[in-house]
Amino acid sequence: MTSVPDVIQTWQMVQPWTKDKETGEKIPGKLEKTTIPMPELQPGEVLVEIAGCGVCHTDLGYFYYGVPTVNKPPLTLGHEISGRVVAGEEEWLGKEVIVPAVMPCNNCPICDAGRGNRCLAQKMPGNSLGIYGGFSSHIPVPAADLCVVENRGDVPLERLAVVADAITTPYQAATRADLQKGDRVVVVGAAGGVGSYVVQMAKAFGAGTVVGIDINQEKLERMLQYGADYIINPAGKDVKTVRDEFRALCKENGLPHNYGWKIFEVSGSKGGQEIALALLSFIGKLIWVGFSTNVNEYSLSRLMAFDAEIIGTWGCLPKHYPKALELVLSKKIQIEPFVETRPMSTIRETFEEAHSGKLMKRIVLTPDF
Ligand SMILES: [Zn+2]
Ligand SMILES: [Zn+2]
Repeated sequence: MTSVPDVIQTWQMVQPWTKDKETGEKIPGKLEKTTIPMPELQPGEVLVEIAGCGVCHTDLGYFYYGVPTVNKPPLTLGHEISGRVVAGEEEWLGKEVIVPAVMPCNNCPICDAGRGNRCLAQKMPGNSLGIYGGFSSHIPVPAADLCVVENRGDVPLERLAVVADAITTPYQAATRADLQKGDRVVVVGAAGGVGSYVVQMAKAFGAGTVVGIDINQEKLERMLQYGADYIINPAGKDVKTVRDEFRALCKENGLPHNYGWKIFEVSGSKGGQEIALALLSFIGKLIWVGFSTNVNEYSLSRLMAFDAEIIGTWGCLPKHYPKALELVLSKKIQIEPFVETRPMSTIRETFEEAHSGKLMKRIVLTPDF
């Protein structure tokens, strides 16, 4: 058993993003390497020695784009965590675990209704779990909803960090869409850190056709090997042109273009959102996965005429985690081509690179304090 140190080593966001008073420009936050006292564990809590923590677009939102965290800085970001239990509740000791990105309170009307992924008292590392986050050596977490990792074969534990969010958010989204065998699916933002797994997840749920839409041609083409049957690059095109391209693609391949499509908006970009809304048609479903502060314009009466739905989805219920993990361990969902591990000491450069949007892979940072 690893001994428990006196302090937690961490990369804290000591200052959040700010606005330049004169230009109104957003100035990124500040990261500092520091230590915080080891907290006394409460009943029901365990201490996880972190193996890896993924860098998510949500972290960048807090750091660069002006999205506020629930708990004010200084706090440590990072909510995509895998690791090993080293202290706390005895039956958990030594277990390898994935920490769900959002942990419900399991004791409120929303949780009782089976909608705990949107529990209002939920805890999210790097946002609302005290000052604690995944870009650290250790993290105290409630044990109840941890996902135990067993029989992971040759898959390194740190790489499984992506199950905490990038894999499970698509799992929940596919569940919300009631994805069935043979379904026709469009993924907008299909080449991104979450979108690439939405594509794979759709196929793992049995989708018959998956159309991937993204502006990054190189990453988009890669998706043809991982679940996308067809791809459309909307870069430099207006919405109508993209819709016409989609219709032509359907015609060429003997697919109906105007009914029954399940569309996942994962891009979180204005352009992507406009495309997703434009493609929604009769008895269709639009699952809203990506986040932006953009305000959209859409005639909701179209929903009535289409008998269609727009559905929001947030995080993932902890009960789905073992099933999502199994899809990864059975290689029905590939993570290897989409994940790169780096030492946590590269966090500043890694944030910058992730922010630039040029990375081909999602980065998992491994503690090297
Ligand atoms: Zn995330
Ligand atoms: Zn609750």
